[in-house]
Amino acid sequence: MTAQQWRGVIEEYRELLDIPEGTPAVTLREGGTPLVDSGWLSGLTGANVWLKVEGNNPTGSFKDRGMTTALSVAVHEGAKAVVCASTGNTSASMAAYAAKAGVKPLVLVPEGKIAAGKMAQAIMHGGQVIMVRGNFDDCLRMARELSEKYPVALVNSVNPYRLQGQKTASFELVDFLGDAPDYHFLPVGNAGNISAYWMGYTEYEKLGRSTKRPVMRGFQAAGSAPLVNGAPVENPETKATAIRIGNPASWDLAMNAKNESGGSFKAIEDEDILAAQRLLATKDGVFVEPASAIGVAGLLQAVEAGEDFTGKTIVITVTGHGLKDTATALEGFGPLVDVVVDADVDAAAAAAGLV
Ligand SMILES: *Cc1c(COP(=O)(O)O)cnc(C)c1O
Repeated sequence: MTAQQWRGVIEEYRELLDIPEGTPAVTLREGGTPLVDSGWLSGLTGANVWLKVEGNNPTGSFKDRGMTTALSVAVHEGAKAVVCASTGNTSASMAAYAAKAGVKPLVLVPEGKIAAGKMAQAIMHGGQVIMVRGNFDDCLRMARELSEKYPVALVNSVNPYRLQGQKTASFELVDFLGDAPDYHFLPVGNAGNISAYWMGYTEYEKLGRSTKRPVMRGFQAAGSAPLVNGAPVENPETKATAIRIGNPASWDLAMNAKNESGGSFKAIEDEDILAAQRLLATKDGVFVEPASAIGVAGLLQAVEAGEDFTGKTIVITVTGHGLKDTATALEGFGPLVDVVVDADVDAAAAAAGLV
């Protein structure tokens, strides 16, 4: 018998995706990511806490789920070039899928605000990277206009096929857990992902594959929290660059997810985000990029505020891999190697505190 490998989100869930019939899949076998139990957070909360580790996708973030659908449809409809605005991961993902499909990737990023790993990905996959003196929101406006005036397909999450691919993450969760969780915690930037999860949960409940939908809790960085403030943020600032977005494109869909689920949007300070990132790495062995740790920081704050999660099931989506932005991760540690000894075993043992 030959082993079957995961086929990617289009072939695994094609009948549930609203994409043109017969669209050939451009895939790097994204999705099928692990749901890892967090012994640390379960112990702390008395709940069953699961991490949906989206850093295990082909380019290291959940963006691949929506990129397989967006690129597949764009190519099926004849696109020769694709464009996106990006805080880093969308461009990394788009460039990889464009390379696979043989179309030209055009990337608009805010100058100086992209993590080095993500920039390297876009460039290595052949992306034409254009830096903009402006923020993400400026880049998105330009990408939209480029796609209206020139023959390039827009693959930001305003492209509805992106959400079609991204909603498969909730399908996977329910398929694994046997039902929807009680709570779902995740970071919110442009707000496509929370909208896609809610769409997926809603569809699965309608199909009778789950008995309920979770309470959706979205988290934004304090310096970039338009959905918490109820108004766009002119100059968003945060070290969690993946969610440094002042005017989310999927604002209304995200509000709807919050309201229908009885959920909330909360703001978290950068230092709490970075502390959660370190805790997750040291206690659970899961290294995520800063933005991805914000759901964990949100749960820690809820517990500190006295909220009781005993016996509940909580899923936290950790959205991207820690290796994408090692500079921010290491900032708090001082010199990388702070102990140097002679090439002598006893000296090493003494330095390690073994004697
Ligand atoms: C894109 C991204 C987010 C934010 O997702 P939205 O759909 O824009 O809300 C969060 N974390 C990471 C790592 C991302 O790449």
